[in-house]
Amino acid sequence: MFKPGTISSLIAILIGFSASAQTTRPEAEKQLADDIYKQFVEIQSGYTTGATTPVAEAAASRLKDAGFSDSDIFVGGAIPKKANLVVRYHSTGAAKPILLLAHEDVVEAKREDWSTDPFQFIEKDGYYYGRGTSDDKAQAAIWIANLIQYKKEGFKPDRDIIVALTADEEGGGPYNGVEWLLKNRRDLINAEYALNEGGWGEESNGKKISNDLQVSEKYVVNFRLEVHNKGGHSSLPVPDNAIYHLAGALDRLSKFGFPLKTNAVTSAYFQEMSKIDNGPEKNDLAKVAENSPEAMQRVAAASPAWNATLRTTCVATMLEGGHAVNALPQLAAATVNCRVLPEDSRDYVESTLRTVIADDQVSVELLGEPHPGPSSPLRSDLMDASRQLTDKFWPGVPVVPMMVMGATDGAYLRSAGIPCYGIQGFFVDRDDIRAHGRDERMGIQSFYEGQAFLYELVKRLSVSRSN
Ligand SMILES: [Zn+2]
Repeated sequence: MFKPGTISSLIAILIGFSASAQTTRPEAEKQLADDIYKQFVEIQSGYTTGATTPVAEAAASRLKDAGFSDSDIFVGGAIPKKANLVVRYHSTGAAKPILLLAHEDVVEAKREDWSTDPFQFIEKDGYYYGRGTSDDKAQAAIWIANLIQYKKEGFKPDRDIIVALTADEEGGGPYNGVEWLLKNRRDLINAEYALNEGGWGEESNGKKISNDLQVSEKYVVNFRLEVHNKGGHSSLPVPDNAIYHLAGALDRLSKFGFPLKTNAVTSAYFQEMSKIDNGPEKNDLAKVAENSPEAMQRVAAASPAWNATLRTTCVATMLEGGHAVNALPQLAAATVNCRVLPEDSRDYVESTLRTVIADDQVSVELLGEPHPGPSSPLRSDLMDASRQLTDKFWPGVPVVPMMVMGATDGAYLRSAGIPCYGIQGFFVDRDDIRAHGRDERMGIQSFYEGQAFLYELVKRLSVSRSN
């Protein structure tokens, strides 16, 4: 016998139960993802001091235990301690493969900087703590756990599903796994497109704001400006002074802004932001999406992030000059760091810099080799699936296409002709992003929801639409 109140609370419990059951995978699958995640986080794969090979080997042995054949698993890389793992899950072959990418290495973390041991996987207050819990071992563990589950179910996709866990994303360098695979074993990872880190869910005060889908990145170009001068005694100054030439050039640079503009990605971003934002810029954000120059001016002035979304930027970051307190300088030099829109070329940026500097005493030299990559096209299958699933998991939360200012391994894939999209389904407080910092963590519920979201997303994208 139930009293009415008891019945309604029972119904509430049942509804609550079924709602939460929908947004996470069954217990056994959560457990497997957890186990792999813990194992990965506790491997010291720090970019400079660690090794990625134990991560690759741990994943390989899990896959073999789950019945993947040796011929579908590759472990190897630039040097013995920086191995990558690539595994292929076979399909009917009706469509080109999809590549699921995550990196194995992490930013260094020191025990004394943290309140917990960064290489212990610690559960506390609803979070998992540890270096790599958000960047990028959660996604790495989930790709592997979900692939094992597809196999268990006997899932037959129409495109091969390739998972690649790669070395040295943090800082790039000579052992970068994506670069190495593209150069040496492109056959293993060749795909119609790839999913990767770089996009995540944004939360503010516990409220989910947006699920960001990263479709392009700015790329980095560094320049060194140098002025040489014969110098002399400082008691006999002349107007032709190396420091003054450089200072003048930097002053002109500080007053210069590259043209404001949008592309397909940033225009879609501002369109979505105009729906979410309730601040004074709401109307301007919509007008930016329609290419209004006045609205772009106001929006760029309102926020450094919006400014950086609307234009290429170049900023002085380092300075040197002079050799004695009582001598005229023989050298003055500055480093200028540019973050370039995908559609702007390196040559355009360099020639614009020269024009702005407008002083032939100041030489402009390119530092390093930039890695420009085009934006990935906004694929309708991916956009539709992301939108539908985001709305299913987190009703009312929009999918926002993004161009990020930072860089991921997606840039290597894009410039090699493999479009790449950052999407995870993990939600992070936008004012408390701890990746690369101390006490990095991941909400436990968020991890499980990300697992379920990616499980369904990959399934949908790997069966042809007629199915
Ligand atoms: Zn990362």
